[in-house]
Amino acid sequence: MSKGIFVVIEQRSGKVQNVGLELVGESTRLKEDLKDEVVAVLLGHEIEGQVDKLFHYGADKVILVDSPYLKEYVTEPYTKAITAIVNEYDPEIMLFGASSIGRDVAPRVASRVKTGLVADTTGLRMAKTEEEFAKEAAMGCEDPTRALLMTRPAFGGNIMATLMCPRTKPQMATVRPGVMKRIAKDTTRTGELIKFNVDFTDADMNVEILEVVKADKKAVDLTEAKLIVSGGRGIGGAQGFDLIRDVADALGAEVGSSRACVDAGWIEKDRQVGQTGKTVRPDLYMACGISGAIQHVAGMENSELVISINKNDTAPIFEVSDLGIVGDVKVILPKLADAVRKY
Ligand code: FAD
Repeated sequence: MSKGIFVVIEQRSGKVQNVGLELVGESTRLKEDLKDEVVAVLLGHEIEGQVDKLFHYGADKVILVDSPYLKEYVTEPYTKAITAIVNEYDPEIMLFGASSIGRDVAPRVASRVKTGLVADTTGLRMAKTEEEFAKEAAMGCEDPTRALLMTRPAFGGNIMATLMCPRTKPQMATVRPGVMKRIAKDTTRTGELIKFNVDFTDADMNVEILEVVKADKKAVDLTEAKLIVSGGRGIGGAQGFDLIRDVADALGAEVGSSRACVDAGWIEKDRQVGQTGKTVRPDLYMACGISGAIQHVAGMENSELVISINKNDTAPIFEVSDLGIVGDVKVILPKLADAVRKY
C-alpha cells in the first residue's frame, strides 16, 4: 500500500520557502483523516541546517538529497531526484507549491511515474462521506477511504472544480502559495532524517548556470505581507494609487491591486491579487474601489480581516468583508491616512 503524505520543499539560496511550510501544515491536517505520516522532501546542497525547521513545522520525517547538482534549481536533476524518491517510497500523496519551480517539476515527475496531477489547487481534503466513497469506488478507486479530493478554480474562475486521481499513485497536486496555513512552530518537535542518495552525472546537467540574477529588491512579495491596502478601478486612475500608497505607508502595509488597474497600466503586475495574480492571506486586507469579482475574491478571501470601501452599497466585495464602508475612496482615504498617523 502506498504510504505517506510527501511535500516537496522549495528552497532558494539554501533557505526553505514559506510555501513548503504551508504544505507541511496542510499535510498535518490531512494526516488526521489519512492516519499517515508527513514526509518533507528537501533537495539542495549543504542545506542540512534547514531540516530541524521542517520538524518544527510538522514534518514527521525529512528525506534529504544533498548534492552540488542540486545547488540551484535545474529541471532535470530535480526531476530525477524526486522521481527516484517516488519509486523508492511509493507515497500516497505528493504535494508541490504552485510556484515557478513546482509548476516546472511536478508535471515531469507525474509523467515519469505515470500518475495524474491536479495543478494550481486551492483546497485539499480526504474523502469522508459514504456518498463520496461510493462515487470514488464507481470511478475505479481501489481504496476510496484514502482518496484525496483536490479543488481548483475552473472556467475562468467561475466554478470551483473538485477532482480526484482514482487509479494511480501518488495522488499529486500543486498548491497555490499563500492558501494553506502553517502550523505554529514547536521547537521541541523532532523527527527522523533520511539521507537519500541519487547518482547524478554531468549528463543530468543539461543546462549550465552562468549567473544567478536576484530579483530587484523593490519587487514585492504580497504573499508574505501582513497588511495590504489594495486599489481597484474605483480609485479612478494611476494617480489614485498615491492615496492608496499614503494609507499603506501610514499603516506599514504593502500596496495591492485588482487586475483592472494592472490591465490599465496604473500599477505593476506583481501587485495583482486574485486568480491570475497572487493569493494573499494577510492579517488585514483593505479593498478600496474594488467591486469583488469572483476572480479577485479567490485571491484574498482567506485574509483574517477584510475592510472594504465602495460607493456602491450592493458591491459584492461587501459579502466577503468584515467591515464595509459605503463612500467615496477619494474622500475616505486621505482622512484615514491622517487618522492613522495621528493614532
Ligand atoms: P470594477 O469591477 O470596475 O469595480 C470598480 C468598483 O469601484 C465598483 O464596485 C464601483 O462601485 C467602485 N467605485 C467606483 N468609484 C468609486 C469611488 N469613487 N469610491 C469608492 N468606490 C468606487 N481580477 C482581479 O482582480 N484579479 C485577478 O487575478 C483576476 N483574474 C481574472 C482571470 C480571468 C480568467 C478573468 C476572466 C478575469 C479576471 N479578473 C481578475 C478580472 C475580474 O473579473 C474583474 O474584472 C476585476 O477584478 C475588476 O476589477 P475592479 O474591481 O477594480 O473593477
